[in-house]
Amino acid sequence: MSTPRTPPPLAGGAQGPQELGPLLAVALDALREGAAARGGPLPAGGPDAVTGRVHAAAHPVLPEHGTGPDDALRTLVHAVAEGAADPADPLCAAHLHCPPLAVAAAADLAASALNPSMDSWDQAPAAAALEALVTRAIAAEIHPEGDALVTTGGTEANQLALLLAREAATGHGPVRGPVQLLVGDNAHHSLARAAWLLGLPEPVAVPAPAGTLDPAALDEALTELGGPPRRFLVAATAGTTDAGLIDPLEEIADLCAVHGARLHVDAAYGGGLLFSDTRKALLRGIERADTVTLDLHKLGWQPAAAGLIAVRDPRDLAALTHRADYLNADDDTEAGLPDLLGRSLRTTRRPDILKIAVTLKALGRQGLGALVDQVCDQATEFADLIEAHPGFELYDTPAISTVLFRPTRADDHHIAHVRRTLLAEGTAVLGRADLDGCRWLKATLLNPHTTPDDLAALLKLVELVAPAEPVQAAPPSTAPEGNTPR
Ligand SMILES: *Cc1c(COP(=O)(O)O)cnc(C)c1O
Repeated sequence: MSTPRTPPPLAGGAQGPQELGPLLAVALDALREGAAARGGPLPAGGPDAVTGRVHAAAHPVLPEHGTGPDDALRTLVHAVAEGAADPADPLCAAHLHCPPLAVAAAADLAASALNPSMDSWDQAPAAAALEALVTRAIAAEIHPEGDALVTTGGTEANQLALLLAREAATGHGPVRGPVQLLVGDNAHHSLARAAWLLGLPEPVAVPAPAGTLDPAALDEALTELGGPPRRFLVAATAGTTDAGLIDPLEEIADLCAVHGARLHVDAAYGGGLLFSDTRKALLRGIERADTVTLDLHKLGWQPAAAGLIAVRDPRDLAALTHRADYLNADDDTEAGLPDLLGRSLRTTRRPDILKIAVTLKALGRQGLGALVDQVCDQATEFADLIEAHPGFELYDTPAISTVLFRPTRADDHHIAHVRRTLLAEGTAVLGRADLDGCRWLKATLLNPHTTPDDLAALLKLVELVAPAEPVQAAPPSTAPEGNTPR
């Protein structure tokens, strides 16, 4: 018989912070050393090099006898930090993948230590009260009567928007068939997937020839499909994934009113503009949406996950009411225990609201707005650099903080190759987008610390890799490209 051992210390309780301190110091050291070993936005050497290091650090995954907290933290945190695509590096600018604020990460650590679970009041008394308060306040930024639910991101928020539309439709008079979603060609892929998930008809795709949903085409599509009693849900985008463009929300809202369609605005990216006094007007019309997707792990500088779905009419949320005796028995609810189960489709749920609330309070509207303005201004600056450079072509004036550009003399294959070469070198992380019949490199600027010198360096890196002349299409090989060590 083995001798009883003292279990490992816990993160919570009065002793928790004292136990966490030294472990945190180990983890922070490993973060520091891992970032130094990487030395750039991305590990050099491509997938094989990274996988090799991760296997070496993680093997054996479940040893017969553990190596202890210090070793495990040091080795694995180091490996993941060394092999990270770090959005805090100004040259890591491919995706809507933001560098989290230190204050938000600190709050998230507190959330992990306390581990409230947002599915019942008796697991999260204060976190539940905070969530109720903060979600209302965020929703009120869009509509004074609104409410919001916390989600894992834009994908879940879009799913809920479709679900709420489906449920709202069943409650209103004679309905012929299920809700029909109409989305621009520029819409996020999660909307079509949500329609599939919910068993709704294939979405009707509305042309977006200039990168934004064309209202005339929407009018035509709605007219062609026929009016009520069939139910329509139009999903517009405020901040497209490829180009960061904003659909003409007011015109779309007008059309929805005329055709009796419900309106969803996917503002996963552009929603952050609400914090900026100068740019808030770009979202005019959003207050007319029935539902709005927000994502504070984009223009909100939160560690993932920090999504929200805002609803204009809180009564819509009644569709999510759900009963499970062990979590929200009727008599418990009648006795005054808040019922949380209808605030999500998830059961166990992290208190993502804590980091959001801490950030809102720490920075205030002006602080957050300034961050939004900084990254938008950087995008304008970067676009100016590109326009002034004879070797590059700019897609369009940035609407938010996304800049699409291409070396003028490179073909599509080579543009993809340029991106992969930078990834393999670990020198820069850029995205890609196929728009208007050609391929573009994409810089999504989300790091308020990025300087004009960083932007110039980014362009220089692309210039060094981009060819002087168009190249032949590469054969479809899977060999790693450009394995140049930094
Ligand atoms: C990022 C994004 C999504 C998906 O959000 P996740 O948080 O990644 O789930 C949806 N729509 C738009 C417009 C986005 O930019």
